[in-house]
Amino acid sequence: GVAIRLKKVTKTYGSGNGTVAAVKSTTLDIFKNEFFTLLGPSGCGKTTLLRLIGGFEYPTTGTILLDGQDIASVPPFRRPINTVFQNYALFPHMTVAENIGFGLRMLKRSRDEIAARVDEMLKLVRLEHLSGRRTAQISGGQQQRVALARALASEPKVLLLDESLSALDYKLRKEMQMELKSLQAATGITFIFVTHDQEEALTMSDRVAVLSSGEIMQVGTPHEVYNRPANRFVANFVGETNFLQGRGLNPDARGTMIDLQGIGAVAIPTKDTVAPGALVNIVVRPEHLRISPLSQEPATQLTGSVKTVSFCGPETQYTVELSNGSGLLLVRKYNTPDENPSIAVGDQVSVKFTPNTAQVL
Ligand code: ADP
Ligand code: MG
Repeated sequence: GVAIRLKKVTKTYGSGNGTVAAVKSTTLDIFKNEFFTLLGPSGCGKTTLLRLIGGFEYPTTGTILLDGQDIASVPPFRRPINTVFQNYALFPHMTVAENIGFGLRMLKRSRDEIAARVDEMLKLVRLEHLSGRRTAQISGGQQQRVALARALASEPKVLLLDESLSALDYKLRKEMQMELKSLQAATGITFIFVTHDQEEALTMSDRVAVLSSGEIMQVGTPHEVYNRPANRFVANFVGETNFLQGRGLNPDARGTMIDLQGIGAVAIPTKDTVAPGALVNIVVRPEHLRISPLSQEPATQLTGSVKTVSFCGPETQYTVELSNGSGLLLVRKYNTPDENPSIAVGDQVSVKFTPNTAQVL
């Protein structure tokens, strides 16, 4: 079922010339038991959307439903929705256990109930051994887990997380990503996670909404958003992308045909029909390009010269300046342990791809 439903929600700040449309008409369903991520660059309206759901802001127009009920008249503290803030907002003078039990004390739950629930939460985030420690005396990752336990203790229906992991260093962030994901699965609570980090969004989410300037560009599984981006913005923001130029040709039995400069006619999947002669952008991911030393093959291939070679551990990245003048290509090739780099800066190479790994946008 649907946990949170946004119906034509807008949020405008200021008035007159100083008006900012932080959220443009947004309609969106977030399901129960879902790990849902709002992804987009800084200033695109992610925090505003979370604050609207949490009740800290009121929509300019539109409706927000929780379990089918309009929650406009429900103040934030009465909504079964908790927030984990980026700076954790823990009480430094309280112990870990006191922090976790704080919300339950506010809700006037019984002593026994609070004690049992705090124990359960300590186990869930694996901090039993630190229950008596003051939060000023534990690490950043541990503070993060206390903030999570405190937000989960009152069994909210929805947990909001605003850039919760961005303050952590790389290793710890990777660890916490997996921990958050398993916490979501273990509790069955709907998580709405905000990040500007596309890799983080892809790694963690059941579904992702990609935002730009207050508008949703695409909602889908990480797989859909990465492999079938709805438009150029999504293709560019989620993962790395090459854009090639082509022109529409008359369709044949293989489907829509595109005349790609330097290659000739190729069949590339399209969403809409392409008029013969129309200019189109073709999107190809770096890992779908295959690079090899230039051989004496027919001219139906992209060719270019290697500008940079970067070893990145699991893969090597090449930039190739195309000889047809249409710019630089980024190519990614998985490494094998016994491989010696056979392609160097300055080499002439050919670059190929399977047409159905590309997309016309
Ligand atoms: P994000 O979290 O994606 O970085 P925000 O939701 O914080 O984006 O901001 C979206 C837009 O709304 C930005 O242009 C921001 O400057 C503006 N904005 C956010 N909060 C306010 C406010 N309280 N008053 C005026 N403008 C605001
Ligand atoms: Mg923000």
